[in-house]
Amino acid sequence: APSIDPDDAIRATDDDAAASRLSAVNLGYLPDPFLPYLYRPPMSSSHGGNAGAGGPSRKPPLINVGTHHRTMAVDMLVQQFFHRGGGQVLSLGAGSDTRFWRLSQSPKPNMSRYVEVDFPHQTSQKAQRIARTAKLHSIFPSPSPTPSASPSSLTSKPYTVSNGGTSLHARSYSLVPLDLRDPTALSGLDGLLDPDLPTLLLAECVFCYMKPEDTDAVLKWFGRFKEAGVLVYEMIGLEDQFGQVMKRNLATRNLSLPGAVYRTSADQANRFLNPLLGSGAFYTSDAKTLWGIHTDVIPKEELQRRIAALEHLDEIEELRLVLSHYCVAWATRGQILEGIGF
Ligand code: SAM
Repeated sequence: APSIDPDDAIRATDDDAAASRLSAVNLGYLPDPFLPYLYRPPMSSSHGGNAGAGGPSRKPPLINVGTHHRTMAVDMLVQQFFHRGGGQVLSLGAGSDTRFWRLSQSPKPNMSRYVEVDFPHQTSQKAQRIARTAKLHSIFPSPSPTPSASPSSLTSKPYTVSNGGTSLHARSYSLVPLDLRDPTALSGLDGLLDPDLPTLLLAECVFCYMKPEDTDAVLKWFGRFKEAGVLVYEMIGLEDQFGQVMKRNLATRNLSLPGAVYRTSADQANRFLNPLLGSGAFYTSDAKTLWGIHTDVIPKEELQRRIAALEHLDEIEELRLVLSHYCVAWATRGQILEGIGF
C-alpha cells in the first residue's frame, strides 16, 4: 500500500486558505487579480455545477468576513512597514499567497527583496505557475544588460528557475523550498537577505503546524535581523467548545496542531518577548483578535456600506464567536519599526 506522508495534510492546508480567499474574491470582499493564476480549485470540489454567485467554492459568510478582515489587517500592517522605509520581507509557509504581486501593483522602491518559503512540493508548483504566466512574471524587472552583453542575454528572462524547478529567483523576489522544522535548512536563505536591512517576517497559519521548539529555532535564527518585525495570523482559544469542534474537524483530515495554540491574543503576542529567544526576542508586541479588528480597525464605512451589502449575516453573536478564535499578532525589534500596529 502506498505510504501516507503526514506532511501531505499540512501542505493541503494551503488549499483551504486559498479556497477561502478565492471565495472572498469571487464574492467581492477582496480584490485579487492574481489569485486565479496562483490557485486552481481542485476539479472535485465543483460537484458538477456552479453553486450560484461565488461559484462552486463559495464559503459561508462568516468565513468570507474572516478572510476579508485577516487580509485587510495584515495588508495594513505590511503597508505600515513600507511607510517606515521598507526593507525586505520573509514570508514563511507562503503557499499560494499573492501578497507580493498585490504589493507590486503600486511601486515599492523600498522593497529590496521579498522571499517566500514553503515545502518543495508547494514551491515547485508556484514556480511553474509564475514561469507560465506573464501576468505573474512580467512585473519582475528585467536584468540590466551589461555593456558586453550578448544579444541573447538582452532577451533573457527576468527570473531563473533552479533546484530541479523548486526555486525561482528574480531581482526583487525569491521562492525557496525548505522545511522550517529542519534547523539547518534556514541556511538556504543565506545571501538572499541582508542582515543590515529592516526585515519583516510573515507567518500566517504556519507556526501552529510546527512544534514550539521548531518555531523558537526559527525565531532565534531571525535574531540576526536587528531592525525587525514579525506578523502572525493564528488560531487561539481552542480549549473551549468551539475549539473542540475545530480540532475534530482537523482530525478528520489527519491534521493535528503540534504548535502552541495560545489561550488569548495577549498570550500570542507575549510569545515574541520571551527572553529565552535570546537575540531573537522582540522588544514590543501586541495583538488583536479578528473580532477586535472588526470592531476597532476595519473602517465603519467599509463594514456598513460595502461588506454588509455583499451577503446576509444573520447572527452577530456567531460572528463574534468565530472571529474571537483567530488573531493577528505583531512584534518589533529596533527603533525603525517600533510603534507599528493598531
Ligand atoms: N500563508 C499562506 C496563507 O496564509 O494563505 C498559507 C497558509 S497554509 C495554512 C500553511 C502553509 O505553511 C502551507 O503552504 C504549508 O505547506 C506551509 N508549511 C507548514 N509547515 C511547514 C514547514 N515545516 N516548512 C515549510 N512550509 C510549511
